[in-house]
Amino acid sequence: MTMKQTLTAALLALLTAGVQAQTDWQQRVDTELSVTLDDVNHELRGHVRIAYQNNSPETLEHVWIHLWPNAYRNGSTAMAKQHYRDGDMFMFYAMNRDLGGIDSLAFTSAKQPLTWNCHPEHIDIAKVELAKPLPPGGRVVVETPFRVDIPSGSISRLGHVGESYQITQWFPKPAVYDDEGWHPMPYLSQGEFFSEYGSYDVKITLPANYTVGATGDLVPGSEDNDAEKSRLDSLAADTKMWVKNQGWKDAENTFPESSQRTKTLHYRQDNVHDFAWFADKRYKVLRGTVVLPRDKRKVTTWAMFTPEEGELWQKAPEYLHDATYYYSLWNGNYPYNQVTAVDGTISAGGGMEYPNVTVIGTAGSDSGLETVIVHEVGHNWFYGILGSNERENAWMDEGINSFNETRYLLTKYGEDKDISLLLGGENNLAQRFELEDFQYKWIDELSYLFPARFGADQPIQCHSNSLTSLNYGAIIYKKTAAAFAMLQSHLGEVAFDKAMQLYFDQWKFRHPGPEDLQLCLEKSTGEDLNWFFGDWIQTTKRNDLALVKASADKGLTVKNAGDLPSSAKISAMQGDSVLAVVDVPLIAPGARTTVDAPAVSGVDRWVLDEDRVTLDYDRSNNVRQASGLFKGMEPLQLRMLTRLEDPDKTQVFWLPALGWNAHNGLMAGVTLHNMALPPRDFTYQWTPLFSVREFGQGVDFGGILAMDWRKDQWHVGMRSSQFRADEAMQLRPELAIPEYDGDLLTRTSLTVERKLNAAPASPWKGVARYEGVHVYGYVDPAPDAMWTLFPNSG
Ligand SMILES: [Zn+2]
Repeated sequence: MTMKQTLTAALLALLTAGVQAQTDWQQRVDTELSVTLDDVNHELRGHVRIAYQNNSPETLEHVWIHLWPNAYRNGSTAMAKQHYRDGDMFMFYAMNRDLGGIDSLAFTSAKQPLTWNCHPEHIDIAKVELAKPLPPGGRVVVETPFRVDIPSGSISRLGHVGESYQITQWFPKPAVYDDEGWHPMPYLSQGEFFSEYGSYDVKITLPANYTVGATGDLVPGSEDNDAEKSRLDSLAADTKMWVKNQGWKDAENTFPESSQRTKTLHYRQDNVHDFAWFADKRYKVLRGTVVLPRDKRKVTTWAMFTPEEGELWQKAPEYLHDATYYYSLWNGNYPYNQVTAVDGTISAGGGMEYPNVTVIGTAGSDSGLETVIVHEVGHNWFYGILGSNERENAWMDEGINSFNETRYLLTKYGEDKDISLLLGGENNLAQRFELEDFQYKWIDELSYLFPARFGADQPIQCHSNSLTSLNYGAIIYKKTAAAFAMLQSHLGEVAFDKAMQLYFDQWKFRHPGPEDLQLCLEKSTGEDLNWFFGDWIQTTKRNDLALVKASADKGLTVKNAGDLPSSAKISAMQGDSVLAVVDVPLIAPGARTTVDAPAVSGVDRWVLDEDRVTLDYDRSNNVRQASGLFKGMEPLQLRMLTRLEDPDKTQVFWLPALGWNAHNGLMAGVTLHNMALPPRDFTYQWTPLFSVREFGQGVDFGGILAMDWRKDQWHVGMRSSQFRADEAMQLRPELAIPEYDGDLLTRTSLTVERKLNAAPASPWKGVARYEGVHVYGYVDPAPDAMWTLFPNSG
């Protein structure tokens, strides 16, 4: 080939790589496990048999295997370091008995010992050398015994709290190998998983009076399994009576003694990428059934809980039912036989998902329990069935799942449901702060605005470990949810659902990446979605549409004042009722478009994105009054303290203010400010104060005025304060300045600041600041220095 040809070929390869889906092959790993729980020493003794099927076109000489219990081994693992970074020092001060790990390993293949070593950096990853290279299409069986020291349940996801066991990420397990090569990764608390699909055949031996919630189905036929089935039947019948009699009122929550007899439970499940189990002797059990919306197949639901929150958990079967139903309806049928939620005390957030089984932390309220159960059950789709690389593309599971979670709550409780859904029913606090007007569906956008308004947000497409813990929640979960609500509104519900179902059908039990999702949505809708999968997902650019002109005859003009392409709807409003809605097609940043106003009469104002689904950075430019002088102005809202941002109002807040200093004495006044939650880019705060000094000397006025403007990395601030300090002048008359009339001292400063660190999750923070200060009344002995500049950086 000539140089020119090579270049053309390379260019072509590059071009096609951009839109190419991942390759067709995927490795398969079938796992057999047998394990015994020792609940006196809190340890597991087990044996794993891994049948590794090489479906790749490459010959493999080794297999990377995760030994994730070793993340709990000491204070220098990747997980421990992540905890320290986020301020959690538990592992730093932990006692030996709180830590854990995996040992007694001896990898063999066909009875021949295999050479293996830990990863040079991570003791929770091992490289096992195969006895002979594994060719494409070949299959190898690797086995090892193992012992797990179960850590304290207050560290992360694997652990025990007393004799309550959460057995997750607990056995030697191969890393993913795909067309990008091996994906060995250390265990992290913030940052999830990526595993190969296959079948699990698991035998768990433990004292007979434990109840177990696990991945998979109990295999019929064995004596212990049959006995367990009738044991669960009678437990479910007892729990029903217990609920009827409100048994939680006088229930003890202590662990009964473990029975001397043991049982071996045998589970099996195909098409999953992990196996987890939870064991507790206190569990109450409620069983339910859900008939799936598409193929009418019956799925069994199990709720397993301690008496602690028994009153809340009595409704868990309803949540399990509804979650399984709606996720199946919108995304594709649940392919397994059972869905289980267990009550556990875990440290990694409110709940944690595993195939078929989810563990739920302390919920506190009905709405809290429902939201967490729905979210974790929803992960069966976005994690379990669609197994994307969560470490690299956390938004594909957490974000899309959060979108479905919000959709579920709005479908079940009404589109206009207010924020009490979050706070749990009638709430005094909600009434006091007028939160009843705030709709639940605004929460996702609002959560994003907090870091965004401070210039502290990160892109949706971001590696889990490079996100701050605030952004992991606000961006990965909430901004993604809001962005997908926008996409759903843009495409229309029917087209969106059809596209998501195509994605489900094409990628179930596989490893889709962002480009695979994009291709499915584009194929199904026939629309180019580069604008969405580009800047919306990849950057922190802001979306901001503005309604700049609105009149019945000249039409409605929308300007894209932001940096992202965006579409929206304009509502013709009369009071609270929507008279008509017009679509505004996709507008490029900086461009304008005018659409015809709908022919309706009685319009008192026009509202851009009245439904609040476009993730708009600034909604104060979204409303035009139909008449009056100030068409872009919103009515004033004066309130004490602060309120959530209300785009339909000009919000001013007040607070009583008291102050004291030696010169002015006791001062009283008021603070007026515009700091709604989240604060807007421009904020002000004005605190006029007055004091009555000595009798007969009159009234002193003083106070503080502060104005700030923040955008992305920039902050410009002005501060001015004025107080009396005449004693200083009397004591040092040589410092007096001619204009000074002897009573008030004013300090005014101007600050310009820019954040320097590019990585928000870094332990280093850099900021360059320039501050100019003007003091009237005197401080500096240099005669001409009226302005004193203090450049500083740190
Ligand atoms: Zn989640």
